[in-house]
Amino acid sequence: MRGSVDTIKEKLDIREIVSQYVKLEKAGQSFKARCPFHNEKTPSFFVSPVRQSFYCFGCGAKGDIFTFVQEIEGLEFREALKFLAERAGVELEYQRGESKTEKDKLFGVLEEATSFFEKELTGNKPALAYITSRGINEETIKKWRIGYASGEWRLLYSHLQSLGYDKEVILKAGLVKLKEGGEPYDVFRDRIIFPLSDQNGRVIAFSGRAFSKETEPKYLNSPDTALFTKSEVLYGLDKAKESIRKQDYAVLVEGQMDLVLSHQAGVLNTVAASGTAFTQAHLERLRRLSSRIILAFDGDSAGEKAAEKASELGISLGFEVKVADVPEGEDPAEIVKKNPQEWKEVLRQSLPAVEFFFNKIEGKEKDRRKLGKQIEKKILPMIKLVRSAIEQSHFVSMLSKRTGIKEEILWEDLRRVERKQDPRRIEEPRLDKKVPILSQREQIEERLTEIELWRKELPESFKKEEIELMDNLSGIILHENLSQLSIELSRAEALKDNKLVAGLARQIQEVHSQIRKLEEKKKML
Ligand SMILES: [Zn+2]
Repeated sequence: MRGSVDTIKEKLDIREIVSQYVKLEKAGQSFKARCPFHNEKTPSFFVSPVRQSFYCFGCGAKGDIFTFVQEIEGLEFREALKFLAERAGVELEYQRGESKTEKDKLFGVLEEATSFFEKELTGNKPALAYITSRGINEETIKKWRIGYASGEWRLLYSHLQSLGYDKEVILKAGLVKLKEGGEPYDVFRDRIIFPLSDQNGRVIAFSGRAFSKETEPKYLNSPDTALFTKSEVLYGLDKAKESIRKQDYAVLVEGQMDLVLSHQAGVLNTVAASGTAFTQAHLERLRRLSSRIILAFDGDSAGEKAAEKASELGISLGFEVKVADVPEGEDPAEIVKKNPQEWKEVLRQSLPAVEFFFNKIEGKEKDRRKLGKQIEKKILPMIKLVRSAIEQSHFVSMLSKRTGIKEEILWEDLRRVERKQDPRRIEEPRLDKKVPILSQREQIEERLTEIELWRKELPESFKKEEIELMDNLSGIILHENLSQLSIELSRAEALKDNKLVAGLARQIQEVHSQIRKLEEKKKML
């Protein structure tokens, strides 16, 4: 396989491949573009034809043509290899006579199970009638490959065996469980089946909704397998990704019915979590496409709680989070069934999370003093999580206008608020193990370019200070004191990450004093 990789690399130019997805502009020896892996206004995605590699200063994405195709097409390495081999007209040596890998077998058995469930649905009038009664049309059934599992204990298992799949594979695919005696039985029985797919649209798991009232639990998911990790897979992402990228936001709903009906209503950028709360891993997948989300959860107290949690997580990860006001007692699926236009209207009227939750509290709490307490307990901690200082001050002034509490007092309280939980973790750029570790000098060069880019985004009023900071940094660079430079850069980066408008001057002063010390040392030598 090594040979094919090298041949492909010789034949294809990274610039040509990348330019099919984004518009590249010349930037010195490199080319730059707005990053296809994260949402940004100014380009921080660089392609180097000399090194045949790409690097994004915004999100840390980097690699060669293989990595690029893997990421942008959502392929595994082997698939990216096939994809590029075809482009380069290179025949792959391994393709003939190689035995199927375990993953291929799992994909195979899951595909058979999907067709089986689909066929079962066509033959079952009550199940079809139920699905139709929820407002789902035939096209949606086909698009999402919705199926049905009867109440029998071994129907799927026997079918798969008759096709030649052995017990081990069916078990590893999460389709059967073992009784105490070791006898297998179907996991999904008496359920409406929704297949979950990977980014290429291949089925990797199922989510089953109980058909009869007696069947427990109401929702059942495949167990985690070699192909499926529940806390990471977003239902519908394979079909929604293009639309999320294009529209630059995603709609997040709770259930499978909500998801398929939202798509049916034409909201093609909708995704759902697969039977869990939204996790950091879910949101990180989304971030490659857009950093704006609308949460549209059920209109009940459980939905509101879930939306609050997801908002805090999203905000702390730097997302612009809005929440849709789903009417009390309804869910997105019901709204779509009633009137698809109303669903779009509900989404259009969504509000920034801070404002949404403030409205909820304000609606319930008439007593001013208690309202103040609630703001302190619920709203300020949420504002505290907002990364952008500009956004923060926007919310503080909104709160002040709406409550009559002075801004200074809100700021003072905000400073005192403890981060009640910190769902955010320090983000490391995604490191690709295949890329050799850069030399210290190269790292510093890269980081300088990043800071250079950040400068351009600073508000006018900070230009003077940060120009000074940059000049001082260049001074140190001239002294070739790499370890000192490293420290200063970390400081500058800390500024960049926080966009600490208020603390900027103080931080810069610290840098100055560091530099002065350094210079004094030099004199003494
Ligand atoms: Zn990026």
